[in-house]
Amino acid sequence: MSLSNVGLCWFRQDLRVTDNPALTRALQQHTQVLCLYVHEHPDDPDPPASLWWQQQALQDLADQLQGQLLYRTGDIQQNLQQIITEYSISAVYWNRLYDPTSIARDTILKTWLGEQSIQVYSFPGQLLFEPWELLKQDGSPYRVFTPFYKACLAQGLSDRVIPAPDLNRLVSVPDPGAQITHDSPAAAWAQAFGDQWDPRRQTGWNRLAEFIAQDMPVYHKARDIPAADQVSRLAPYLHAGQLSVREVVAATRDQPGADTFVRQLVWREFAHYVLYHWPHTLDQPMDNRYVHFPWRTDPVALRAWQCGQTGIPLVDAGMRQLWQTGYLHNRLRMVVASLLCKHLLLDWRAGAAWFMYTLLDADLANNTLGWQWVAGSGVDAAPYFRIFNPVSQGERFDADGTYVRRWVPELAALPNRWIQQPWAAPTELLTAHGVQLGDDYPQPIVELAAGRRAALAAWEQMKALAASALIKRS
Ligand SMILES: Cc1cc2nc3c(=O)[nH]c(=O)nc-3n(C[C@H](O)[C@H](O)[C@H](O)COP(=O)(O)OP(=O)(O)OC[C@H]3O[C@@H](n4cnc5c(N)ncnc54)[C@H](O)[C@@H]3O)c2cc1C
Repeated sequence: MSLSNVGLCWFRQDLRVTDNPALTRALQQHTQVLCLYVHEHPDDPDPPASLWWQQQALQDLADQLQGQLLYRTGDIQQNLQQIITEYSISAVYWNRLYDPTSIARDTILKTWLGEQSIQVYSFPGQLLFEPWELLKQDGSPYRVFTPFYKACLAQGLSDRVIPAPDLNRLVSVPDPGAQITHDSPAAAWAQAFGDQWDPRRQTGWNRLAEFIAQDMPVYHKARDIPAADQVSRLAPYLHAGQLSVREVVAATRDQPGADTFVRQLVWREFAHYVLYHWPHTLDQPMDNRYVHFPWRTDPVALRAWQCGQTGIPLVDAGMRQLWQTGYLHNRLRMVVASLLCKHLLLDWRAGAAWFMYTLLDADLANNTLGWQWVAGSGVDAAPYFRIFNPVSQGERFDADGTYVRRWVPELAALPNRWIQQPWAAPTELLTAHGVQLGDDYPQPIVELAAGRRAALAAWEQMKALAASALIKRS
């Protein structure tokens, strides 16, 4: 059946034409389709790094749509109201999102549009499975990754990709392509991202091909070495939906090394699944006992961590890579997060907020899962007593100090033996290599052994408080 009037395709985190079920279906059902994107928070005085990516990705989408993307800012409901009247829209199409804010907004909009006799059609475009499709035998959601992963494999990972539709019947928009405002983060900050990244879909696609040929065969061991950088770096493309996860699965199928890589894509799936089933974990611990965790407040320590000035070289290298490039290697995400919420006893939510501000791939679901995992408070989290030691992590995964030297040039001249722990080096050796601790590079803000003891004591305290309040591990 073909409806004669105009359908609206509302783009959100699906900035692509290929494998976009909402767009394809809208074009099948209507003689004309209007493509829309609404930037809901244009007045943010200090926008996050990811806005830079999003604006470039939107420009690229507009190019793929031959300019026919209507870009609006502000309240979505007001915009829809106006557009529906102006363009005689009879139905709205979108791909589903699963975080609590989007679900609440979409539910309200669906009811409101229904009241005006506007049809709403939503589609699965962000994940491999709908979160409610995979449940344990007793009907409850999985809380542990490995059984979830096995259930995904047993079900079969979908790699059916919808080809790009014919785009001849898009509604012409006024001033095509020229309307996307570039209210990006501070210009100097964003400039550095442009030197490192190209947010166009085709570049992501080329990177995927290069990764499959060169890096995926060794991904299972090289993915832990931050200096090697043999990871895909596809996270920002996946977050913005420029590449669909089904396309990535389809491209890697049967290629050497695919199993380990696809397992990581299933971690992404699991993160969205967990947030869907337990939306409170966005800012509350999954393990109830952590409500009693004695987090410290220490703005000076938090700032030192954010700025890569903790005096612990591997951590500082990571935090500087994050600030300067909008990216942080997964091993470093774990190491820096662990220092914050274990040795420094600062609330994981402060760290998660900084990541959301600085990462180009900032993603509510993946970020929340990652932080709760490190903090020990999440589903299937790392046991609290397993505390990453940044010195031994450095000696293991950055043995020749290449990564630290790249990001902490103050220490570049130090021999491998001392590069991960300059405070332990003899003073004459430091002087001979031109390093004055406390001057060229900070003294550590926390002594690692003492920080570890304090973290374990805080954990015992939390358990005792939870036990006296009769709260069990949930
Ligand atoms: C504290 C912490 C915070 C994190 N915050 C984010 C975030 O905001 N956004 C984000 O996309 N990822 C986040 N991650 C997960 C992971 O670190 C990144 O996805 C990965 O480093 C991105 O680099 P890549 O694309 O080269 O990954 P690759 O190693 O090439 O992996 C391929 C893809 O698999 C997915 N993936 C890989 N590892 C994970 C994981 N542990 N959890 C969920 N998905 C995963 C990502 O989509 C990634 O692009 C976080 C991890 C931790 C420990």
